[in-house]
Amino acid sequence: MSTIFKKIIDREIPAKIVFEDGLALAFHDVNPQAPTHVLVIPKQEIAGLDAAGEGDGALLGHLLLVAKRVAYELGLKDGYRVVINNGPDGGQTVDHLHVHVLGGRAMGWPPG
Ligand code: 5GP
Repeated sequence: MSTIFKKIIDREIPAKIVFEDGLALAFHDVNPQAPTHVLVIPKQEIAGLDAAGEGDGALLGHLLLVAKRVAYELGLKDGYRVVINNGPDGGQTVDHLHVHVLGGRAMGWPPG
């Protein structure tokens, strides 16, 4: 089932897009949890990390490389955090796989 992220991919609703290629899209989170908070998503509709299979390995790797590139391009030279929330206990609220890239402040650990 499609989510709001599909509408962002299809430009049916606006987003502040920072990167796009044939496989992935990256855009600023509408409710940022850090000075910089970007979501990297596959254009393919995969519900979450649990829904990814062996055949998605290259795509998953690509999403991480896009996360690194976006962090660099947005100037997160002191570091950043990459997060994938999966399922209810993981805090996932949108059922379209997404990688959070958070930076611009020091992160706490453990996460809440
Ligand atoms: P999750 O909680 O599933 O790991 O992360 C979903 C993220 O998507 C949240 O951080 C939320 O703020 C963000 N989000 C939800 N709807 C929209 C939207 O319409 N536009 C943008 N840019 N971000 C959204």
